[in-house]
Amino acid sequence: MTFEIKHRDAMGRIGILNINGKKIETPTIMPVIHPNPKKQIVSMDLIKKLADVIITNSYITYRTKHLREIAEEKGIHKLIGFDKVIVTDSGSFQLGVYGEVDVEPLEIIEFQEKIGVDVGTILDIPTPPDVDRDRAESELEETLKRAKASIEIKNAQNGGVVTAILANAFDEGLIDGAIVMVDDKWTLEPESYLALSKEDVLKSAGSKYLWKGPILKALKTAVMEKKLRKLAVVGTPCVINAIYQILSSDNDLLKPFREAIRLKIALFCFETYDYSKMIKKLSEDGIEPWEVKKMDIEAGKLKITLINGNTVEYKLKDVEFAMRNGCKVCGDFTGLTSDISVGNVGTEKGYSTVLIRNKWGEGFFKRAVYNGYITYDENVDLDAVKKLAELKRKRVKED
Ligand SMILES: Cc1cc2nc3c(=O)[nH]c(=O)nc-3n(C[C@H](O)[C@H](O)[C@H](O)COP(=O)(O)OP(=O)(O)OC[C@H]3O[C@@H](n4cnc5c(N)ncnc54)[C@H](O)[C@@H]3O)c2cc1C
Ligand code: SF4
Repeated sequence: MTFEIKHRDAMGRIGILNINGKKIETPTIMPVIHPNPKKQIVSMDLIKKLADVIITNSYITYRTKHLREIAEEKGIHKLIGFDKVIVTDSGSFQLGVYGEVDVEPLEIIEFQEKIGVDVGTILDIPTPPDVDRDRAESELEETLKRAKASIEIKNAQNGGVVTAILANAFDEGLIDGAIVMVDDKWTLEPESYLALSKEDVLKSAGSKYLWKGPILKALKTAVMEKKLRKLAVVGTPCVINAIYQILSSDNDLLKPFREAIRLKIALFCFETYDYSKMIKKLSEDGIEPWEVKKMDIEAGKLKITLINGNTVEYKLKDVEFAMRNGCKVCGDFTGLTSDISVGNVGTEKGYSTVLIRNKWGEGFFKRAVYNGYITYDENVDLDAVKKLAELKRKRVKED
């Protein structure tokens, strides 16, 4: 979002707000629109002429089955019939009026993301003006916590399942550390990272497709220096297989690692890219590392989403030169030796496909479900997962 100032007078400024490539000239009006087109009194044709931005309610949309289905399938802009900027409220008003709402703070954030709102809102606590200081302070503290968590879960790659499992595990003391991956948002340089809290896990969400340096560096720190004994490890299938080998070994030197690792989560993986080669390619194509918001592999393409909302797509064969050599001889797509495998193929946008492989995986997953961190259904296209797994195996044979 940017704000280009056109004129100033004393403390006043007028200008142009640019949100997701859509412009709003200030001052402006922001009509309140009912998400159900049948309940919208003023015609949308008139609204479109008058306004560059409207506000509607994501909680009502979420709670009304047919509105939710349309919004999830076609997006909020199609539901409302307005292609300019849409701001959504989150259910805080209903929380203030009725005292409770039937949605979790992060659930409504994820829903707003999923239906493509331009500006979403957190489920803040609507503190009445006449309450005592203690209550006001504690409610503000809760609102700040939610705001922070909401910003960070936005980084989740797909349905945020990996982050949710780990966040719940920290909440419940099931783990005292998690080996994940972070990257430097300026250089995109990835780094093995020891998360020591739920907040650390939220910060580390999102897939890192670039590979540089020792991938399990943080595991040594966790076990040998910090003496942690309840660890989760997240990694690509090759990394999880290395962990599996450690757990299966009877080498005495590896005993502290064997005793410390509780959970192995594999991320589906078709390939990763050498950091330097990919950064060079992006730079040749005029893309600076800090402009990259997210990378995905989807439908045979590497899709790069930029912070300005634009996307750049490469056919996988066009970036094959940057693929790590090890990936060319790797036939494991889902992480066969993990406790839980998670990927995007097989489910729609905004969801994760989860394969639970054993009772440890089931325990961690089900406790996160029980505590409201995850909702799930069985509606997964397993054939799509099998197809990619087969494709990857075939690639090895052909090489
Ligand atoms: C290199 C790579 C290639 C992938 N290719 C595919 C694919 O072809 N098809 C497919 O369906 N899915 C693929 N995935 C998986 C997909 O991108 C998501 O990671 C997965 O769906 C989990 O999403 P989520 O929203 O639940 O994860 P989030 O809640 O965002 O959590 C992801 C967690 O994984 C950690 N992490 C991210 N990258 C790495 C990494 N490289 N090594 C170790 N930990 C990491 C993060 O720190 C975070 O804790 C790939 C992932 C990676 C990293
Ligand atoms: S393709 Fe295989 S070797 Fe390459 S990162 Fe993925 S799991 Fe590891």
